[in-house]
Amino acid sequence: RASNLQGYAPICLGLEDFYIRRLYLRIQDCFGRPIASAPDAWIDVVERYSNDSNKTLKRTTKKSRCLNLGSYNYLGFAASDEYCTPRAIESLKRFSPSTCSARVDGGTTTLHTELEECVANFVQKPAAIVFGMGYVTNSAILPVLMGKGGLIISDSLNHNSIVNGARGSGATVRVFQHNTPSHLEKVLREQIAEGQPRTHRPWKKIIVVVEGIYSMEGELCKLPEIVAICKKYKAYVYLDEAHSIGAVGKSGRGVCELLGVDTADVDIMMGTFTKSFGSCGGYIAGSKELIQYLKYTCPAHLYATSISPPAAQQIISSIKVILGEDGTSRGAQKLARIRENSNFFRSELQKMGFEVLGDNDSPVMPIMLYNPAKIPAFSRECLKQNVAVVTVAFPATPLLLARARICISASHTKEDLVKALEVIGRVGDLVGIKYFPAEPKKQ
Ligand code: PMP
Repeated sequence: RASNLQGYAPICLGLEDFYIRRLYLRIQDCFGRPIASAPDAWIDVVERYSNDSNKTLKRTTKKSRCLNLGSYNYLGFAASDEYCTPRAIESLKRFSPSTCSARVDGGTTTLHTELEECVANFVQKPAAIVFGMGYVTNSAILPVLMGKGGLIISDSLNHNSIVNGARGSGATVRVFQHNTPSHLEKVLREQIAEGQPRTHRPWKKIIVVVEGIYSMEGELCKLPEIVAICKKYKAYVYLDEAHSIGAVGKSGRGVCELLGVDTADVDIMMGTFTKSFGSCGGYIAGSKELIQYLKYTCPAHLYATSISPPAAQQIISSIKVILGEDGTSRGAQKLARIRENSNFFRSELQKMGFEVLGDNDSPVMPIMLYNPAKIPAFSRECLKQNVAVVTVAFPATPLLLARARICISASHTKEDLVKALEVIGRVGDLVGIKYFPAEPKKQ
């Protein structure tokens, strides 16, 4: 979100330091506590406090059980699972936690090749390559794909890993207004004429980078319109599905499936395994030639230790469950559940008078707080009532657009959600963040 940081830099030269040191650390103090359990629907939050005059932290072993509204564990796989967990344990015993080698130096196990086939099949692309970290996938791949003489056109709210990769590539970077296809077209038209062949224009390559679901906005990408514009101007499409793969679409295949976009029209499909699959790492999927090229040239493939085998096994197993290849319908049930949970929670929050960003079907639900001073009060009051929420503020969002970012999971039960709504409703009144009139309750 460095694009935001840039825009606000002039007024924040001194403020940034103030916020990060004074406010942000205080926020960390009220909800950034260590967690002593898996990121399931309920978590054990360790209470840590400072109570002596030297302000040294004293650790207690006291834990509170909190309803978890902050995890990206969208399908609930990042907790004990009857299919995934025994297989992950088995792979830990067989392969150990680490391969201790880069992919090309003995770090490619049978699990790694199986994982790449499995991911390519899941996202419906001819081939895939996997990396040990989602962040690195973006920040290392963009510099391999793009360089001097290339043009990257990036959504203004793209994730920091994309911003970093784009900057590190040496290509020219232009930003278009968040999720606004008409502005993307304007930016493209400033650079090239419509229908101009790739060989006759001032840029070696043009790539448009978007996200499937925006993690701070909860919005679905306007992908059909963006793909149509990219086709018209012969620009490549790079889609980061960190938050959408596994979470949306009839069979969990992300925004292409949900919005009816042919995956052949998305040139580079990127995603992470840290959300719906409850694991670690990231992937790029695309044509066989693209993936082969990345395998020969990408430093993060050639020089970094490969993805941990138990993490790889966890991804393979969770994809099997999603596709029903475990012989049950649990995957389909999870997908139906996350959709129902998300749509129920969003509409109830709206009925209570909260300003909630994002689209239906998205499990990411930012509740606007606006004033950064409301952040500590909101998160602390929720935590006091055993609800753990994540709040986001500058520099992850513009200074006066602070928000609480709720993430819904298929592992939340209806009772969990009702409890969360009660608590958030009370805290919302206390902190004064119900910006709209509440809908009268049905008798
Ligand atoms: N892309 C997007 C859109 C993200 O939101 C994130 C992190 N949440 C990443 C990439 C980085 O992924 P990871 O946390 O798996 O490293």
